[in-house]
Amino acid sequence: MSPQKSDRRGLLIILSSPSGAGKSTLAKRLMQWDETLQFSVSATTRAPREGEVNGKDYFFVSEPEFRKWVAAGDMLEHAHVFGNFYGSPKPAVEAAIESGRDVLFDIDWQGAQQIRNSALGPYTLSIFILPPSIPELHRRLVSRGQDDSETIAKRMQKSWDEISHWDGYDYVLVNDDLDETEQKLKTIIQAERLKFAQQPRLSDHVRSLQSQFEDLS
Ligand code: ADP
Ligand code: 5GP
Repeated sequence: MSPQKSDRRGLLIILSSPSGAGKSTLAKRLMQWDETLQFSVSATTRAPREGEVNGKDYFFVSEPEFRKWVAAGDMLEHAHVFGNFYGSPKPAVEAAIESGRDVLFDIDWQGAQQIRNSALGPYTLSIFILPPSIPELHRRLVSRGQDDSETIAKRMQKSWDEISHWDGYDYVLVNDDLDETEQKLKTIIQAERLKFAQQPRLSDHVRSLQSQFEDLS
């Protein structure tokens, strides 16, 4: 007997890190690894970066539109980050987890805290990604080549604020070697899926073992 994915409620898998530590890169790799994972496409009021696709990387919305979603109760969590609003639309997440799909979030510590403290807290797996060093974090932000120097400076200034919340997470990984970090993330997700609470059909199996056992005597 192997419990089917649809037998259980999906997990909310949260990745957070200071900007540039590598969480988007890791999230993309996880999405390629497991096609049943659903990425939670956030809404944001920031402008798209080159190559970012509306509806895939983010829903790029105006501030009034963003406020409307929040007022309607359609955001699972939301936060003000680097001068812009970001939030996770609730309907898509609820539909996915109800059908047993795990949802992957790339959100900051404020969003992670709000989800952990919500009714969905027990279904949450949170992982914080640390950079190997601060100069390497800066190097990655520069090498990404998507922000001007003023934005990079702003992100660097805010990085300690994000890092200081590292100990509120279930797991903390230092993203030095990318392949190694990816492997560790996969191991964590696989282990979480094997937890007792994630396998509701196990009790049926144990009942069946019990009746087979009783038939022996
Ligand atoms: P974040 O989503 O946390 O802001 P990104 O995933 O955009 O960060 O990564 C920032 C830059 O660092 C990207 O250019 C990415 O290719 C690079 N990067 C990510 N992880 C590593 C790593 N382990 N080693 C070297 N470069 C990395
Ligand atoms: P970026 O502008 O680099 O894409 O994201 C900036 C920061 O906002 C990152 O730390 C990212 O994880 C966070 N972020 C992205 N989407 C959300 C969201 O929906 N909610 C929250 N709370 N943070 C988000």
